[in-house]
Amino acid sequence: ALAIEARDLRRTYRTRTGWLNPRRVEIDAVRGVDLDVRRGELFGLLGPNGAGKTTTIKMLNTLLIPSSGSARVCGFDVVSQTREVRRRIGYVFGGDRGLYDRLSALDNLRYFAELYGVPAARQKRRIGELLELVGLTGRERERVEGYSRGMRQRLHIARGLLHEPEVLFLDEPSIGVDPVAARELRNTVAGLAATGTTVLLTTHYMAEAEELCDRIAVIAGGEIQALGTADELKHHA
Ligand code: ADP
Ligand code: ADP
Repeated sequence: ALAIEARDLRRTYRTRTGWLNPRRVEIDAVRGVDLDVRRGELFGLLGPNGAGKTTTIKMLNTLLIPSSGSARVCGFDVVSQTREVRRRIGYVFGGDRGLYDRLSALDNLRYFAELYGVPAARQKRRIGELLELVGLTGRERERVEGYSRGMRQRLHIARGLLHEPEVLFLDEPSIGVDPVAARELRNTVAGLAATGTTVLLTTHYMAEAEELCDRIAVIAGGEIQALGTADELKHHA
């Protein structure tokens, strides 16, 4: 059973460039991507800045409509069945927005659990499990404004998991965090994968992909350049 299947996904951005002589340009951000991610797999999309990682993720999580091609997540079409898809996925991106700094981590999670419609009877246990998973147990009553970058990122991950998604999209989770925090983040992601959640992770760090991912797709210029386990990729490099 496949958690994610993408066939010949493409996305072109039409934009303008130049100030004195503005002209229209088309950027082929993603140029024919095929992906098969198995259920329970921790799959890495590895590539440099501008490779098309975020664009690919946004087409899979229904935030961006593909220019052509198709994709299914948990068996549902990302264009015609967005509600079915959204109910089953979580999305955490590298930026740090959307947490309430003046509230504690616990109150943030309570708020979002309510917002996401997590049944009241399940909230307490779910939040407790997630705090444990992301290593914030014991710190949950502190205000988020005092949190380090890495702690905040782990709280974002907890938030993205409140509704028990089958698939979590993690876009550059370790960007801007220090090495110790990045290690804690990797532990969190590994722990998450151990619970059976399918994870699609993007990163531009080979070492991170190698350590965490069951399989890795290398993307550059909007195309998949290679795909396999870290070992397979090394032997073909
Ligand atoms: P990555 O996540 O690997 O850094 P992106 O998917 O963000 O790559 O970007 C792929 C290419 O598409 C880049 O050239 C980027 O500048 C361009 N791009 C991304 N988003 C937009 C947009 N909204 N409008 C125009 N170009 C974009
Ligand atoms: P990331 O760090 O994930 O690659 P970026 O910082 O490149 O994201 O992009 C931030 C936002 O700006 C995204 O919504 C992206 O789609 C958009 N964007 C990226 N590149 C361009 C571009 N060349 N023109 C317009 N928008 C862009």
